[in-house]
Amino acid sequence: MLSIQGLTKIYPGPVSALNGVDLEVPAGMFGLLGPNGAGKSTLMKILAGLLQPTTGTVTLDGMDVLRDPESLWPRLGYLPQEFGFYPHLSGEAMLDHLLVLKGVEAPGGRKALVKELLERVNLTFAAKRAVKGYSGGMRQRLGIAQAIAGDPRLIIVDEPTAGLDPEERLRFYHLLSELATDRIVLLSTHIVEDVAVLCPRFAVIRGGRLLALTTPTEARAAIDGHIFEGTVDVADLPRLRAERTVTQALLVEGRNRARVYEPAGAPPSGFTPAPVTLEDAYLVLMRLGTLPGHELQAPAGQGSGL
Ligand code: ADP
Ligand code: MG
Repeated sequence: MLSIQGLTKIYPGPVSALNGVDLEVPAGMFGLLGPNGAGKSTLMKILAGLLQPTTGTVTLDGMDVLRDPESLWPRLGYLPQEFGFYPHLSGEAMLDHLLVLKGVEAPGGRKALVKELLERVNLTFAAKRAVKGYSGGMRQRLGIAQAIAGDPRLIIVDEPTAGLDPEERLRFYHLLSELATDRIVLLSTHIVEDVAVLCPRFAVIRGGRLLALTTPTEARAAIDGHIFEGTVDVADLPRLRAERTVTQALLVEGRNRARVYEPAGAPPSGFTPAPVTLEDAYLVLMRLGTLPGHELQAPAGQGSGL
């Protein structure tokens, strides 16, 4: 269990990147979903022991992560959002180098460990190739290879699917879900599909605050029966947006195919009920700051800030 309490981070500026985050993350895959600037990377860096928070505590299976981060690194796998490469090195040489930096023990020898890790992430075929020729998906898999070295209890991956093509993304999903069978995998993302496909539980973060802690099924159920779809003229869209909670508006042949959330009253005329997607639930949460039945307790002395 990863346990986060009262976490705040104020960068010089000052920029308040985290505003009191409390979160318990059990074993398995857990998603941290939020828009750019929400505070995801800040939270991930703190959990990886690379950044000190302004206040708060983090424990992993009862051990204090912040007090002695270096002793924790072997038990931790971290794939940063900006993963640095030595482009001229081969994948094999790069991984070997990263294992040295990480201080991973390899009882059978580092060469054997590198081989095993490359196999695990399906990169054996490209072991001798220069990393600069790798595709985005191959680079991310190499990043995962260094993260899982040492068999860590906690793996933190920060926006790993951004920039992957659909096929690469699917492969990467498989790899991550395999890893999550016997450890905590914490995945940060701004892509709702990542969460819909992978995460039995997830938190939504914005402005350094958690807005919801839920499951894809619960989040959809919260607005089930209240999403309606219809067509509007482009000129009428601003008024629709002003009067309703519009979750989506797609331009199709010069007219807008729009989806609205209508919690109580009647839908706009011509709109019909539509099956709810997780994207709808996320967008309602972004528009309104909360989902029905998902109210989180605000810390004492603070407003909800929404
Ligand atoms: P996310 O990963 O969700 O996009 P970040 O954690 O990177 O969000 O950033 C959260 C907020 O903190 C943003 O407003 C960002 O501009 C700010 N921020 C991030 N890193 C720094 C830094 N080193 N110094 C000052 N502000 C920062
Ligand atoms: Mg980020």
